[in-house]
Amino acid sequence: ELLPWHRELRAQFPIVANSPGQAYLDSAATSQKPQAVLDAVLRYLTTANANAGRGTYTWANATTALVERTRARVARFLGDPAPLEHSGVHFTSGATEGLRTVARDWLPGHLRDGDEIVVPFADHQANLLPWLEARDLLADRGVHVTVRELPYDPASHDYDPAALARLVTPRTAFVAATHVHHVYGADMNVHRIRAAVGPDVPICLDAAQSVGHLPVDVGALDVDFVVFSGHKAMALPGTGAVWARNTRGPRFRPGGWAGTPNTCGIAGLEAALDWLDAAGTDRIRRWNTALAARLTDGLRRSASYQVLGCQLSLAADSAVQRREGIVTFRHRAIGSNDLGFVLASHGLMVRADGHCQARAGEADSSVRVSLHVYNTPEEVDRLLAVLLAL
Ligand code: PMP
Repeated sequence: ELLPWHRELRAQFPIVANSPGQAYLDSAATSQKPQAVLDAVLRYLTTANANAGRGTYTWANATTALVERTRARVARFLGDPAPLEHSGVHFTSGATEGLRTVARDWLPGHLRDGDEIVVPFADHQANLLPWLEARDLLADRGVHVTVRELPYDPASHDYDPAALARLVTPRTAFVAATHVHHVYGADMNVHRIRAAVGPDVPICLDAAQSVGHLPVDVGALDVDFVVFSGHKAMALPGTGAVWARNTRGPRFRPGGWAGTPNTCGIAGLEAALDWLDAAGTDRIRRWNTALAARLTDGLRRSASYQVLGCQLSLAADSAVQRREGIVTFRHRAIGSNDLGFVLASHGLMVRADGHCQARAGEADSSVRVSLHVYNTPEEVDRLLAVLLAL
């Protein structure tokens, strides 16, 4: 059943060969790394390791060139038509630091007393807490900003653009949204936000669960910031980036050359983006959504399981609503930690219990399975066999 291209891609992950009988099903937390990324990191550290931005000698210049090249590589990966001409890329340790950077370094200078910002309340807490902190920081300075909830449609499990359009006022100064939900796996259809808020409101997109999993195109999405975790996109732990469109409002230039960047992480990120482009994010998406559909179809055969999130068509080609490679479910009688331990004893690595969701509730005490291109239908079937025998 494994297609040749998939067999070839899977063979590039050394951890797969090193772990017979184990199935890693927690890629929404972090991804595994292909050999090309490990090679790039080792090559950098063993041939040109130096600090960036301040050198007179070859290794320092090579490191500076690596950092600059990778900024442009990130922009190109995100479909920026003129990389870095009207945009900037800032490296971070992951999506949390990226969102905090926008919230601390950019947002406060762009809000005035009486402004309103619209942010998600039911997504990852990394995409809520920094905005609330920015509001509180401004309040301490006497600048009062109102935080409104980005309207969520519980039926389709994505944002409600009509409700958003009704909420927008002339004082709406910023919108934060999430590309793919980290619990429900829903594509949040964020391309509809621009029309709802008008041409001038900056939109910041948390793309932690989409970069590396599906094509992310800043032109089609018409957003101003894209924040992602490199470590969820085949690169090393401690990597991530913020892409910022600098044509709407003043420039986003945090950091500059202050401090020492994570240069070996950046070398790995460059290799990861090359690897993903060669593998094809469209193909990766189709693979992951097919595995997710296989899992949800299997779980629906049992009355003991409740799959959370969108119950509409799960077909990858559904124009309305897509479930990406994340399936969160609950057993009607067995707690999620117990399920997690049972699955671990079968070599099945899943995420149990809380999911860092900002608004606690439905997803509490559930199990999340998140798939990536190195997973196989056989692994999903093994998981189903254990789950359906409980
Ligand atoms: N946003 C979303 C949607 C996420 O899924 C995650 C990671 N679980 C984050 C932000 C935080 O990413 P990081 O751990 O890389 O800071």
